[in-house]
Amino acid sequence: MDNCIFCKIAGKHIPSTFIYEDDDLIAFHDINPAAPIHFLIVPKQHISTLSDCDEGHAPLLGKMMLLAPKLAQEQGCAYSIDSDGRGAGGFKTLFNTGPDGGQEVYHLHLHVIGGPHPWRGQR
Ligand code: AMP
Ligand code: ZN
Repeated sequence: MDNCIFCKIAGKHIPSTFIYEDDDLIAFHDINPAAPIHFLIVPKQHISTLSDCDEGHAPLLGKMMLLAPKLAQEQGCAYSIDSDGRGAGGFKTLFNTGPDGGQEVYHLHLHVIGGPHPWRGQR
């Protein structure tokens, strides 16, 4: 898609620092972070919204979801359980879909939002 910013980033037509890349996905920090840690997991393939996905996209969506905790660990917002059984850390995962879902960029992406009190300033 010619006018899609995330296609341009995925195609390396505009500079960006990837925190992850494989054949299907890229991940990079959100330019306007809503929390101390905020990155996006983005398919290289242009898909406008989650509502444009069908059963054929299930492996890709599963891969995006499973990448979230791995990158959260690397980025410093892993969820863990301490020896007393108390949970610590953690993050939000979010797909915005359409105008009422607050979607601004119409290229599918999964927000991963974490760090201390990531729910403050949430969108
Ligand atoms: P959404 O509202 O779900 O469509 O979110 C789009 C997100 O993309 C917003 O959080 C923006 O801050 C982010 N964003 C837009 N352009 C860029 C960019 N060039 N690099 C990194 N993040 C971006
Ligand atoms: Zn695109």
